[in-house]
Amino acid sequence: MLQERFVVVGAGTMGVGIGYVAAVAGYRVELVEVDPDQAVRARQALDRLVETGVARGKLTGADSVRTDIVTSLDELAGGPDVVVEAVPERADLKREVLRAAQALRPGLLATNTSSISIGALAAGLDAPDRLLGLHFFNPVPAMALLEVVVGPATSEETTAAGLAVARRLGKEPIVVRDQPGFATSRLGVAVGLEAIRMVEDGVASPADIDKAMVLGYRHPVGPLELTDIVGLDVRLDIARTLHEAYGERFAPPALLVSMVEAGRLGRKSGEGFYRWEAGVRLADAGLPA
Ligand code: NAD
Repeated sequence: MLQERFVVVGAGTMGVGIGYVAAVAGYRVELVEVDPDQAVRARQALDRLVETGVARGKLTGADSVRTDIVTSLDELAGGPDVVVEAVPERADLKREVLRAAQALRPGLLATNTSSISIGALAAGLDAPDRLLGLHFFNPVPAMALLEVVVGPATSEETTAAGLAVARRLGKEPIVVRDQPGFATSRLGVAVGLEAIRMVEDGVASPADIDKAMVLGYRHPVGPLELTDIVGLDVRLDIARTLHEAYGERFAPPALLVSMVEAGRLGRKSGEGFYRWEAGVRLADAGLPA
């Protein structure tokens, strides 16, 4: 039997995780990554995930999964079963990628956007009824939730296909109406931005603000550590989208903007609110002068 094909566009933090869970679910996975250096890092990250999957008995062996990384959608054959785009959170870029991806005539076309409305991304597509949001969580292999975001034009067949893919990937889907930020980013980013404003106000150190939410509200990680894990640049992009949609309550704090400008992107750059080494959190990084 021909193995079903699952294409992921953008092999960054999310794309690698999505590609891995699709491979574990038995799809033949093709990742598209424009940055050659990132393609090398993605290859290494996927190999590490496969190694861990074999060690934990999730995979019978490295040979049981197939993940290829290419640099352009043009290199792929038409007719994949699923395409998920996981490029940076910018509407113009996502629209361009989705338009190129639809030319492959996929069975299901999905976006992993955290905050942009599906309706806005579907504008200009030949078949807007085939697009929906599949919003994964980080780290993808460990997180059970998958938000299935239904746009104004998304057909019932597409929603049903999205739910089927979610279950095949071993995720718990929830169906969400197409409002910027959906159910999770709107709430999660609201807490994250307020925590950053509290750092600006000098209420407490980042570590103590995080401790307050971990011990006081039983959050598994604090909002600032989570911002480091997600990526400060990713959170800033989401805040900008929500600011436009909902107004001042989502205005990005100046501290977040200045940290992103300084390249302090969190875990992936080695420094955010904390310092990180090989994915492990170290001490508070101190604040920019
Ligand atoms: P990232 O920056 O780690 O990865 C994005 C990748 O896309 C980069 O490697 C980049 O080189 C690549 N890329 C850019 N343009 C491309 C193109 N035209 N074709 C192919 N590849 C291209 O970002 P990320 O954190 O993986 O986020 C990706 C998406 O997932 C965003 O929409 C984000 O909002 C969403 N998301 C992120 C998280 C998170 O925790 N990081 C969680 C849920 C959803």
